[in-house]
Amino acid sequence: MNMNKETAKRELDKELIHNRVFETPIVGMTILDMNQNVIFGNSTARNIFELERDPVGVNVREFLNEESKNLVDTVVLPALEKKGSWQGELVGNLKDGREVPLSASCVVIYDEEGGSHAILATYRDITERKQMEWALRESERRYHRLVDTAPDVIYTISWDGTLTSLNPAFEKITGWSRNEWLNKPFAELVHPDDLAKAVETFQQTMRGETPPPYELRIRTKSGDYLMGEFTSKPLIEKGEVIGGLGITRDITERKKAEEALQEAEKRYRTLFEHSPSGILLIDSKTAGIIEFNDITCSQLGYSRDEFAKLQISDFDALETPRDTKARITKILCEGKDAFETKHRTKDGKLRDILVIVQKTRISGKDIFHCIFHDITERKTAEDQLEEYSEKLEQKVQEKTKELLESHKKLVVAERLATIGEVATQVGHDLRNPLTSIKGAAYYLKMDKNIKLDKNAIKMLDTIDNSITYSDKIITDLLDFSQEIKLKPVGKIVRDIVTDAISSITVPKKVNVINSTESEPTIRADSLLIRRVLHNVFINAFDAMPDGGTLKIESKENGENVSIRICDSGVGMPKNVIEKVFTPFFTTKARGVGLGLAICKRIVEAHGGSISVESKKGKGTCVTIILPKNKR
Ligand code: ADP
Ligand code: MG
Repeated sequence: MNMNKETAKRELDKELIHNRVFETPIVGMTILDMNQNVIFGNSTARNIFELERDPVGVNVREFLNEESKNLVDTVVLPALEKKGSWQGELVGNLKDGREVPLSASCVVIYDEEGGSHAILATYRDITERKQMEWALRESERRYHRLVDTAPDVIYTISWDGTLTSLNPAFEKITGWSRNEWLNKPFAELVHPDDLAKAVETFQQTMRGETPPPYELRIRTKSGDYLMGEFTSKPLIEKGEVIGGLGITRDITERKKAEEALQEAEKRYRTLFEHSPSGILLIDSKTAGIIEFNDITCSQLGYSRDEFAKLQISDFDALETPRDTKARITKILCEGKDAFETKHRTKDGKLRDILVIVQKTRISGKDIFHCIFHDITERKTAEDQLEEYSEKLEQKVQEKTKELLESHKKLVVAERLATIGEVATQVGHDLRNPLTSIKGAAYYLKMDKNIKLDKNAIKMLDTIDNSITYSDKIITDLLDFSQEIKLKPVGKIVRDIVTDAISSITVPKKVNVINSTESEPTIRADSLLIRRVLHNVFINAFDAMPDGGTLKIESKENGENVSIRICDSGVGMPKNVIEKVFTPFFTTKARGVGLGLAICKRIVEAHGGSISVESKKGKGTCVTIILPKNKR
């Protein structure tokens, strides 16, 4: 009984343990018979395979994928036969086709006689672990692909400065093979001048810092250097810096392009800044000034700051904001424009400006590129030139007129010269017959044998007078036409005047007043000057048929002496005064018209001048100016 009780208790315990072990939720457990058919499983097993009850009698292969089925036959069963156990991974196959990776272990359960009795399979769903593994592998693969295909060099460097890894880009960029540089000092790749920088950034990295991006020149296989842009950071393992990771980008081309751009920018800046004309950029939308060179503001007297605040209408003296708007519309349409305008300087002066505008597009905006040429000087010059040319034309006209007049005078003079020559000839030729006639008339009058009545005597007198008159004409003609040969000496004016008065017959009713001075003396040919005075006196007597006064005065006048002879005669109208010196001009019935012309010739031959003032009915004054005698 006790035995039975004990056996019964042991049986109960066995079942309890059996249940406990079986129903632990951690692992799935299935017991299979030796043909691998399911005898029973625990709840975890049912959960894993998503079954409601144990699939008793179904072959385990039904719950495995093809690969695992294969594994069971080729690996698991032989192992069980040989060692009685197997451990490994299998893939479960769910009803709907989903697969569950399993970590499994199988053991053979032996019966009391030591024969194979059943197989206990315990297993765990390792889906999550598998996924993690897969994700890790995937990320590793991606990482490798990234490193391998990266266009930049990716490298690692150890604490002693040697290169521990290099990606394929290193070969492509530098031309070296990776083996040539793995485990070699990185510093040997760096341009000597950049070594200090390389060392500094390496030390920073080794201190656990991340230096800001830096540039180093790297030697390539061909011996050239490329410009590398570096970013590096420390490699930390278990809290300790074990080396550095770096990425290098070849920026040689970019650098060159940057430098070329800078160079070009500098060139254009210089062009812009040193242009002799103002250049400015205007925003076509706002008409605001975007950019301008110094000359633009300095030629208007503004500082850069002042000018930058201006609107176009603030300095354009001709355009209103509305005009500017209209012009902008026009340029937007036509693309360019050129016009002249006036700009007002800061102190209010106007400058003439030639504006040339070209529309350009900069960063998607319509910009007007304007050039201001200050053409004030040119304009002024043009205006002056125009004025000059007008004046010149006027001058030419005047000169032409003068030329014509002098030509006319020349013609007259030539004619006079010819007349002179003829007159001289004729004068000489007439003198002899006149002398004969005069002699004959005298003989007729004087011969006692010839009886002459009163009329005849009168006629002979007329003949005699006419001959005297003709002789005077001849003398005048000869005087006028003959060349004047001066024999000048110092003379007292008063003496010459007195001499001249005494040489002519003064009409009875004429009163002569000689108030000439004896000082200063003049330099003159006294005979010729006496002739001048003689002619003037005769004209005066002619003008005073009813008598009057003839007054002669002299006066020192700077370098000259003027002699003034005034009569109280009939005077002359204006049109006569103008012509008195013209040869052969006379208003007298028996005049020759050479008297004053001869006077003018003689006086001018002395370097002096003669002029006439007269008033009709009042009298006439003749002024003769002669140079003083310089001792
Ligand atoms: P002529 O005495 O032969 O006419 P002149 O040359 O001496 O020639 O004078 C020219 C003219 O000038 C005169 O005919 C006369 O009309 C005018 N004339 C000259 N002197 C006087 C004078 N003193 N008073 C008025 N008329 C004068
Ligand atoms: Mg006269």
